[in-house]
Amino acid sequence: MTRLGKSKDKVRYAVVGLGHIAQSAVLPAFKSAPNSELFALVSGDPEKLKKLGRTYAIQHLYSYEDYGRALSNVDAVYLALPNHLHREYAVRAAAAGVHVLCEKPMAVTTEDCQAMIEAARQNRAKLMIAYRLHFEAGNLEAIRLASSGKLGDLRIFTSEFSQQVAARNVRVSEFIEQGGGPVYDMGVYCINAARYLFAAEPTQVFAVAANDGDERFHHVEEMTSVVMHFPQERLASFTCSFGAADVSQYSLIGTRGVLRADPAYEYATAIKHQVTLGEKKTNRTFSKRDQFAAELVYFSDCVINSEEPEPSGLEGMADVRIVEAIYESARAKRAVRLPEIRVENRPTIRQEIRRPAHGKPQMIHTKPPSREAA
Ligand code: NDP
Repeated sequence: MTRLGKSKDKVRYAVVGLGHIAQSAVLPAFKSAPNSELFALVSGDPEKLKKLGRTYAIQHLYSYEDYGRALSNVDAVYLALPNHLHREYAVRAAAAGVHVLCEKPMAVTTEDCQAMIEAARQNRAKLMIAYRLHFEAGNLEAIRLASSGKLGDLRIFTSEFSQQVAARNVRVSEFIEQGGGPVYDMGVYCINAARYLFAAEPTQVFAVAANDGDERFHHVEEMTSVVMHFPQERLASFTCSFGAADVSQYSLIGTRGVLRADPAYEYATAIKHQVTLGEKKTNRTFSKRDQFAAELVYFSDCVINSEEPEPSGLEGMADVRIVEAIYESARAKRAVRLPEIRVENRPTIRQEIRRPAHGKPQMIHTKPPSREAA
C-alpha cells in the first residue's frame, strides 16, 4: 500500500526518537527536502515534544504508547531510536503500510533484519537504511575511482574510526547483545566502505577486542580490530574505538596508487581525499553538505515513484551479519567464515545528491555521543 498525504509529491514523515541525531541532523534536514514533510514527532519526553513541536511548527505529537496513532497519520517514519528498537518500530510501521527509513545499523541480528525485510515485503512498504554516505560526493567519488582501475588492482583497505564516547551514552550503556559497542556504531561504516570500495562481500573475518578497563566499558569493549578477507585475495582491516581521539579515515591501496580519505565518514565537516599515483599527489575537498536531506529526498522519491531504495534492507543486513561474525570471532578467538550472499545493487556516483548544509539547531535534553563534543 502506498498512502500519500496531502499531495502526491510530498511524503509525510514521523520522526521517531528525538535524541542527538534526530535533533542535530534529521529534523533540520526537512527544510532542504522539498518532497518530504515533517508531519509528526514521536518521543517519550513531553518537554521535547512541546519545544520541538513549537520550533518546527508540528501539531502531531505522540508518545511511544501512541505510536499506532502516529502511524495512521503518516506515509513514512524516520527511525532515530537506539539499535535494539529498530526492529520493533520498523516492523510495526511496515505492518501499518508505512514506509521505513531506519538509522544504521539496521538492527542487532540478522534475524531482526530478516523480520524487517519480510514485514516491508508483505505490506509493500519501502525500507531503506540511512547510509548517508551513499549519497555523499566524496565517498561516491572514491567508489568511482576504485572501479575505474586507476589505482591498479585493489589490494588493501585500512581504516580507523574512533571517538571518546561520553559515559552513560546509549552506545556504552546497552550491552553488545542489544546493539551497544563500537562495531555496531562505528565499525559498520568501515565494513560498509570496504564492501562498497571492493564491490564485494567478505568471505571470512577475524577480530580481536580490547578493553583498558575504563569505567565506561563495563557493557561493551573499548575497541575492536578486524581483518576481513575478500574475494580476489583482497584484505580489509579496521579498528573502531570508543576510547581514542577523534579519527575518521580510510586508505584504499591498489597495485598502482593510493586513495586516502581523512575525514572519511563525517557529516559535520567536509570529506577530504588525497590520491597518490606514482610521484603525483592530488588533493580534493568535498564540501560539507546536508547528507540527511539527501537521504530524505532520495527515499521520498522512491516512495513517490514506487522504486526500491539502495541502500535497501538487504544492504543493511549484509553489514549486520558481518558485525555478528566479528563478535563471534572475538569471543571464540578464531576466524569466522561467512556464507556467500549476492548483493546486486551497490552505490554509484549516480546517487550523489547535493543539499545545502544548515546551522546548529537548538538542542533539548540530549547530549552528543562524544565527550569531546559535549
Ligand atoms: P541518542 O541516545 O541520542 O537518542 C536516542 C533516542 O531514542 C533517545 O533520545 C530517546 O528519545 C529515544 N529512545 C526511546 N527508547 C529509548 C531507550 N530505551 N533508551 C534510550 N533512548 C530511547 O542516540 P543517537 O541519536 O546518537 O542514535 C540514534 C540512532 O541513530 C542509532 O541507531 C545510531 O546508530 C544512529 N546514528 C546515526 C548517525 C548517522 O550519522 N547516520 C549518527 C549518530 C547516530 P526520546 O527522549 O525522544 O524518547
